[in-house]
Amino acid sequence: MEKTKAQDTEISIEERMRALYSLQLVDSEIDKIKTLRGELPLEVQDLEDEIAGLETRLGNLREEVVNLEKSILQKNNEITDAESLIKKYEEQQKNVRNNREFDSLSKEIEYQNLEIELFAKKIKEFSIQIEEKKTAITESENTLAERTADLENKKSELDEIILDTQKEEEGLYKKRDKVENIIEERLLAAYKRIRSNARNGLAVVPVQRDACGGCFNQIPPQRQLDIRSRKKIIVCEYCGRILVDDEIVKESKA
Ligand SMILES: [Zn+2]
Repeated sequence: MEKTKAQDTEISIEERMRALYSLQLVDSEIDKIKTLRGELPLEVQDLEDEIAGLETRLGNLREEVVNLEKSILQKNNEITDAESLIKKYEEQQKNVRNNREFDSLSKEIEYQNLEIELFAKKIKEFSIQIEEKKTAITESENTLAERTADLENKKSELDEIILDTQKEEEGLYKKRDKVENIIEERLLAAYKRIRSNARNGLAVVPVQRDACGGCFNQIPPQRQLDIRSRKKIIVCEYCGRILVDDEIVKESKA
């Protein structure tokens, strides 16, 4: 990695500190964009998965209702068959030759009546199941409508962010290249190392209310003076972050 920059030219510690803080601001902005994007695609994916699941569930429920309706139809046919058998046996009873034949037919009729009761009971059970499934279908349909609307919103939100941030991100990358060029390689490596270890991605922090803006530990007055003098790069003795004074922060924001 050939670098024709910072270390060879006359750049004051103060300028390096300003550059470091600018770099931090740019990186934090890039982090923000990445976070925005990083969550939305996942949310969109989750919704798409949930919608696919709901559609499968609805398909199954509708099929189950159709099958139950078929079963009811079948039981109704069985009832009709049993009824015609009963009629037939009753007719036969009029022409029996003895009591034994009559009793035997009576038993058949009794059996068919029991069958009819059983079929009717089944029909009732199936009807209850159909009602339950229809309720579940309505619930799933409502959820599906909600999730579909959610998905549309998230998708357009994501599209907007991508559209909005594309230019911004490109600008930020250009700015970062420029700022990085001012900072000597060793310092830049240190910055990147600190940043990757910090949970919030902050490697350069201001002194705020006599404390480190990264870990909030108190900074002794002498150390604060050293930071303000801008004669050397000073890191927080607790978290290792690079510290800058309030003035640099104010100037960078302007
Ligand atoms: Zn600290």
